[in-house]
Amino acid sequence: MDKTTVLQSQPMVARILSNALLHDRISHAYLFVGSKAAPKKEMALLMAQSLVCDHPDAQGFACGQCDQCLKIQNHSYADLVDIDPFSAYEKLKANQGASKTKKNDGSTKPKPLAIPRIAKDEIAQLQSFFATSAMERKGWKIYIINGLERMSEEAGNALLKFLEEPKSEKICALLIAESSNNVLSTIVSRCQTIRFQGVSHQVISDRVLESGADDLSALMASYLWRGETMEEWTDSRSVNDALGMVVQLIASDNPHFRETAIKLENDVVLSTGFTKECGKYIFDMLYIIYMLQLKDPTLLNGLTIRLQPKNITRWLLILTQASAKCDGSYYYPLVYEQTISRLAKEL
Ligand SMILES: [Zn+2]
Repeated sequence: MDKTTVLQSQPMVARILSNALLHDRISHAYLFVGSKAAPKKEMALLMAQSLVCDHPDAQGFACGQCDQCLKIQNHSYADLVDIDPFSAYEKLKANQGASKTKKNDGSTKPKPLAIPRIAKDEIAQLQSFFATSAMERKGWKIYIINGLERMSEEAGNALLKFLEEPKSEKICALLIAESSNNVLSTIVSRCQTIRFQGVSHQVISDRVLESGADDLSALMASYLWRGETMEEWTDSRSVNDALGMVVQLIASDNPHFRETAIKLENDVVLSTGFTKECGKYIFDMLYIIYMLQLKDPTLLNGLTIRLQPKNITRWLLILTQASAKCDGSYYYPLVYEQTISRLAKEL
């Protein structure tokens, strides 16, 4: 995501930060709050660049090209600490992928990884780092902590102490959370909270398209986005199995719907890799397609739908119920079978 996209997607946030930068009224600590998909980390990095940039623009934001900006972009700015359990998780995952020989049949299931928690040690390291004076010529010392919710209680208390006793005027904390409800209220009260707006379907869809996925995958991501990285979305087996099945289902003729569905069940649903998550995606994706067909077919962008339910609203209801069942403890191949047969009756 480039600077313009980040700023345009969050006009209110851009205005608040621009004011602070232009009038030299930088808060000691910001708390960026917003959904997973909102570009909070991107904004934090842009803010860090803007504090030290040699040639800021008319709004006070970083040029993105000077030495200072590039150092931040390349993680080589000596006075910036970036604590990010999500990117640590991405690195762990990449390492795990690299250390295994990939099999095309998907028979080796990698050990599930967990997003690490932020430990007290990391905050202690931060404190000792901030005890020394700035090394870069701009004099700012900046720290970004992403995923404040992932902080242990001890780490939270250590951070609170740190926020209470700033060592210098030129310290800026850029803290990031999905919701301030999950952050110690004493931390929240010491920060200027900045709320990010939800991200529009279009922005998400463009991001998925940029990563090389096709139109249908991008359209679905724009509705089903839960904050995955682009790679997680485009590489997800559940997503891809579901997309494959949905394409075949909507391309089948009404009389052949049940037949196609049963064939897919034998091929995919009853295979070992099929998950409840995939089942839910199938119902949610069909729901989105028929919802758009009803409300705004232009958004389907030429996607051919041969299936014509007699009663689309009835279909939508059945699909909603099926999706909800996937969240429960139902046996999902059975949910699939029952749902297909209910849908077929409405054709
Ligand atoms: Zn710059």
